[in-house]
Amino acid sequence: MAGTVKAAILRGRKTVETVVEEGRKKAEKVVEEGLNTVDTVVEVGFNTVETVVVEGRKKVESAVSLGRKTVEHALLHGRSTMQAAVLHGREDIRIESVPVPEANFGELIVSVGAALTCGTDLKVYRRGYHARMIVPPALFGHEQAGTVVEAGEGVEGFAAGDRVVALNSAPCGQCYFCTRGQENLCDDLLFNNGAYAEFIRIPARIVAKNTLHVPDHVPLEHAALTEPLACAVHGFEDSHPHPGDTVAVIGGGPLGLMILHVAALAGCKVIAIVKHDGQVEAARQLGAAHVVQTASIRNAIRETRALTEKNRGVDIAIEAVGVPESWEEAVEMVRKGGTVNFFGGCALGTHVSLDTNRIHYSDITLRATFHHTPAFCRKALDLIASGRFQAGAFITGHAHLYELNRVFEKLMKRGTEIKTAIVP
Ligand SMILES: [Zn+2]
Ligand SMILES: [Zn+2]
Repeated sequence: MAGTVKAAILRGRKTVETVVEEGRKKAEKVVEEGLNTVDTVVEVGFNTVETVVVEGRKKVESAVSLGRKTVEHALLHGRSTMQAAVLHGREDIRIESVPVPEANFGELIVSVGAALTCGTDLKVYRRGYHARMIVPPALFGHEQAGTVVEAGEGVEGFAAGDRVVALNSAPCGQCYFCTRGQENLCDDLLFNNGAYAEFIRIPARIVAKNTLHVPDHVPLEHAALTEPLACAVHGFEDSHPHPGDTVAVIGGGPLGLMILHVAALAGCKVIAIVKHDGQVEAARQLGAAHVVQTASIRNAIRETRALTEKNRGVDIAIEAVGVPESWEEAVEMVRKGGTVNFFGGCALGTHVSLDTNRIHYSDITLRATFHHTPAFCRKALDLIASGRFQAGAFITGHAHLYELNRVFEKLMKRGTEIKTAIVP
């Protein structure tokens, strides 16, 4: 009996103990779980707040950015039209109201600071078209520098307010020629026209490959010389000159003068062969050691040779006129082992007749440099920015866009003008 009572007491105690123990565990669990729950709630709440703040900030930023773009766009396009020169055909340029361009992906809209007249534009004005560069009716002009007013989505490195010179073309970078460093011969060279206008659209490829920042100390009209100068430096360096070489430059147009100036800066002795009175003084000022002024090719050859020791001929002759007779003339001016560069492009379908004997037995190198590459464009702007290149000497006049026709008529008469800066 006693055993039964003791067992009952023991079991009762154990039951009480179990109840107490289990109860404590439950209480502990409740406290623990409750604490975890609070933590979880706090944690989740916290994340939600952070997300809300971040997302909110993003929304505000986006709103500010979009708002600013809209305002910029509104400011620019408040004027929905601009004045621009439109080429309609032979000697037919009209200043017209056309829509202000808008920047698409990768593009820039530049407010033109100065656009320069150019021999190519003069040719196009006379002929009414340029097979590769421009087919009318079309916006006209290709040498300019200005200030960015709008940068399209995806543009890197340029923003509104930047002073830039955007070149007239850009190579594809992928074709046979581009991958061999001959980007001037690119199968898909992209040209841009429209410099004689208040604003110009710069295509994405030119923005990415051939648009350069203009240093603060360089006037925009000087920076606009980058394109022709790039051609001149390319033509000169392609002739493989050495300091001290005697270089004959045939032609006193803007590019002839530029090449002779570049050659003089490189330490060459330059003989300039020019036709017109106005070109004589310019050639001297830009560094020609001798100026031969004649309209006769025979005289030009004879007088140029006479300026070299024993009538030997010049080391390098660069033709910068673009007529077959003067290509032939250039070949007659160089010494044995000399180099001729047919730099001036002639009209389609023209031919030359060359003395094969002389070319072979005198071991003459013939070259014909065309256009520029992105590397030469950078070199040209560096030369302008260096201050060594007399940029100011090439800009002999200023005119308003409305005077463009009068300017071209004057250029046709070949006076003393080299380049006129057209200011819109
Ligand atoms: Zn040009
Ligand atoms: Zn290419």
